[in-house]
Amino acid sequence: MNKYALASRMGLLSSESAFQILAKAQALESQGKSVIHMEIGQPDFKTPQRIIDAAYRAMNEGFTGYSPTPGYPQTRNAIADYAEKYKHIKTSPDEVVVVPGAKPVMFYTMLMLVEPGDEVICPNPSFPIYESIIKFAGGKPVSLPMTSKNDFQMDIGELSGLLSPKTKLVIINNPCNPTGSVYSRENIEAVAEVLRNRPDIFILSDEIYDRLSYDGEVVSIASLPGFKDRTIILDGVSKTYSMTGWRLGYGIMNPDLAKEMELLMVNSNSCTASFTQIAAIEALSGPQGAVDEMKAAFKARRDWLVAALRDIPGIQCNMPKGAFYVFPDISSFGLSSDVFADRLLYEAGVAASSGTSFGSYGEGHIRMSYSTSMENIKAAVERMASFVKTLS
Ligand code: PLP
Repeated sequence: MNKYALASRMGLLSSESAFQILAKAQALESQGKSVIHMEIGQPDFKTPQRIIDAAYRAMNEGFTGYSPTPGYPQTRNAIADYAEKYKHIKTSPDEVVVVPGAKPVMFYTMLMLVEPGDEVICPNPSFPIYESIIKFAGGKPVSLPMTSKNDFQMDIGELSGLLSPKTKLVIINNPCNPTGSVYSRENIEAVAEVLRNRPDIFILSDEIYDRLSYDGEVVSIASLPGFKDRTIILDGVSKTYSMTGWRLGYGIMNPDLAKEMELLMVNSNSCTASFTQIAAIEALSGPQGAVDEMKAAFKARRDWLVAALRDIPGIQCNMPKGAFYVFPDISSFGLSSDVFADRLLYEAGVAASSGTSFGSYGEGHIRMSYSTSMENIKAAVERMASFVKTLS
């Protein structure tokens, strides 16, 4: 029995460990210790000035009240155009719901589709909030293991074996957090083949990192024939335009589902902040040079970091193709991922996430975010190299 007699469903929710590690790191910093932050999942770039200017203009022009619940028509229109240009999906504004940050799309998708007892196939390791809200909705997360042996691609045999009459939803996160993998076209097409004769199954396609791919295309399953109507695309401006604090995300789904998501929105948020919706039009439709610059910086950091980690005896590291995370294998040191990450923080002053924060199949790994300066990345690798020497 909890102190406040909370509803029992509260016990089904879990938190996002990156925020917990951040709290530990900040506690150390408040004692004067130096910590290099590689636990954070947000770009270290400023929001491009033209987007900030657009928000100021919008506020001065009176975009400070409620907007229509699913978003302004002009914002939904800009999102539909953007999806056509970057995701190769022909869509229309009535298939778009604008929400405060991308996370609500996950939450609403589970609430509107998952019945108690339904199964949701979820990559493991993956963004921890998926599992938390599947359980909150009364569903059962079913893990699709992602392993470095398979270069963190989706294992099609495993996926077919996991399907059951109770499967309601499959989650795809492309590019993937925490592994940084980008699924090949063949891999996405093979997933589609497996799901083709199960039209009762929906797909949640989390594409929040899809503009941050360094070695080639990112294929949305919704762009494959027959899949648009059964896919809910989750995206937003947080990562692509360095706008995590603006809270502007969106879902793209068939118009019937969009109406249901609108109902969830009116019951929870009323609408997304009005001036951020106008600024988002500038982000999505304006010049994209800042995205290209950020991407080039991330790529240079990734290349350096992966090479440097591979030079540390005992560490193995796949080459991630997208997002801004590396997911090195630290299992040779004989410590659990949790202990390794804790000791790395307390003994070496490098904050990284334990692989198991993203699911049990993350054991043997840590996630390091390279959304910090090259100088910090170099210092972190030096600290890590000295730290692992103390383990042998
Ligand atoms: N999906 C993934 C895979 C993420 O890593 C994140 C944020 O870290 C989100 C969604 C949430 O994005 P937002 O901050 O726009 O809610």
